Amino acid sequence: MKVSEMPYKRITVEEFKEQAEMIIKKIRSAKSAEDLKNARNDFNKISEEIETACSLANCRFTLNTRDEFYNAEMDYYDNAMPLFSEIENDYKKAILDSPYRTEAEKLINPRVFKGFEMSLKTFSPEVIEDLQQENALVTKYSKFMGELAFEFEGEKMPLSVLRGKLEDDSRDVRKKAAEAIGKTMEENADTFDEIFDGLVKIRTQIARKLGYKNFVELGYYRMGRVDYDEKMVAAFRKSVETDIVPAVAELKERIRNRLGLDKIMYYDDAVSVTGEMPRPVIGTKEIFDNALKMYNDMKPEIGDFMQRMLDAEAFDVEARDGKFGGGYCTTFAKYKQPFILANFNGTSGDIDVITHEFGHALAADYMFKFAEPDYPTGMETHECHSMSMEFLCHKYMDGFFGDKSDKYRYKHIVDALSFIPYGTIVDEFQHIVYENPDLTPDERKSEYLKLEKKYRPYLSFEGIPYLELGTRWQYQMHIYESPFYYIDYCIAQCVALGFLGLSRDNFEDALEKYVDFLKKTGGISLGELIEGAGLKSPFVENALKETAENALKAITETENKI
Ligand code: ZN
Repeated sequence: MKVSEMPYKRITVEEFKEQAEMIIKKIRSAKSAEDLKNARNDFNKISEEIETACSLANCRFTLNTRDEFYNAEMDYYDNAMPLFSEIENDYKKAILDSPYRTEAEKLINPRVFKGFEMSLKTFSPEVIEDLQQENALVTKYSKFMGELAFEFEGEKMPLSVLRGKLEDDSRDVRKKAAEAIGKTMEENADTFDEIFDGLVKIRTQIARKLGYKNFVELGYYRMGRVDYDEKMVAAFRKSVETDIVPAVAELKERIRNRLGLDKIMYYDDAVSVTGEMPRPVIGTKEIFDNALKMYNDMKPEIGDFMQRMLDAEAFDVEARDGKFGGGYCTTFAKYKQPFILANFNGTSGDIDVITHEFGHALAADYMFKFAEPDYPTGMETHECHSMSMEFLCHKYMDGFFGDKSDKYRYKHIVDALSFIPYGTIVDEFQHIVYENPDLTPDERKSEYLKLEKKYRPYLSFEGIPYLELGTRWQYQMHIYESPFYYIDYCIAQCVALGFLGLSRDNFEDALEKYVDFLKKTGGISLGELIEGAGLKSPFVENALKETAENALKAITETENKI
């Protein structure tokens, strides 16, 4: 079925409640573990209906944000979401409290129960009002950032456009862009501080009402992390400090020399090659033809899936007036169909759509076949799927970037490795902030500055208005919108770099391991998935040393060709 032909019907809170209550009744009167399993199947079916309805409504809204019908549907679900969650929690509680639970764990993957336990830890009717307050602050920040106009050389522009200039070939343009970011942020410093302070306070209050010392533990539960905890993440950050930071510092020094810079300023961080940036040398139609060829060559079943995506018209990539400006991969569970939205603009980002987003889509396709819908899967695992696929596609980049493909590969690996220290700063910063909720806005900034020196000692913010005070994090939307999310990108990046290393040694073998990783997702833990691929878990000692060595080796080999 083509995505545009999928029928949409709203599922109301009342309908869901009625069906869920019947299932909960069945669970309470169950006579065997088998009864519990059947009730779970019933519940998964109605969940699938809701999920599909929400994601169809959201998708059609993003295809045309002016569509009145889907605008109203989105408003409906925004309000209904907390009510859906409340009902869902009642169901999970009934399953966990059942006397047949232990027996049912022999019929249902025990990870499902772990996931249920975790989601119950994040909610109590007592905090509904606080949650609404938190959501209102998050929306305030998103709106504020979306509307904030930055002035650059007399022209007003959104941050997304201005940030593009931080990659400009001219250092002067980059410097002016950084100054423009700092200046506009400084003018709005009070708003940035106030919203964040409000968020820290309300999140701390929610955590305390739910019986936690501070927001950190709750933040981890909210991320649904069944496979790793605070201690493991702390060890990971330590390894980043000892193993990744020196490698990136060495790399940055090499780049500084090659580019002839006196020092690496914040606005030089995104630049590792000079001259024209690698861009696709072919048009949209050829990009898709080429992608199909690439995936057929990789593995026939992956090529088949690409063909199925094309047949279902499951890519919408042309930029249009009224279309949502970002990009994503979503799924319509009822139809077992992934969908990708993007806005092609002629930059290397267009190729990410058919590598990164396609990696998400392919994983979703395997998960429809091999996983069950309530298996807990963390964001880091999803990003392993997509970021690893980006690297597995390296071999085929000549077809997209022509004679600039080595430049593309080089920049891609440099960016991937140097991202890890930044992502770690974001994570440690949030731990400090939520462990010490009474810090003042200025104290938070000075903590941030200390972290920049610890993890990115090679980078200078000196003289850049406002940003030199330790405020770079204020335009990192995750810090406001999705606390503790960011480390997932760092963990996934390490795994993806692992796949890069494997693929450079033996492509076929790396691909088999990658496909196996996708097929087993959800059913086993992250650690088991990584181990199954023959990689070292990024949480164990010395693992990141290997990550850094492998990445530097690949960078050096590619550097000689650019
Ligand atoms: Zn992604």
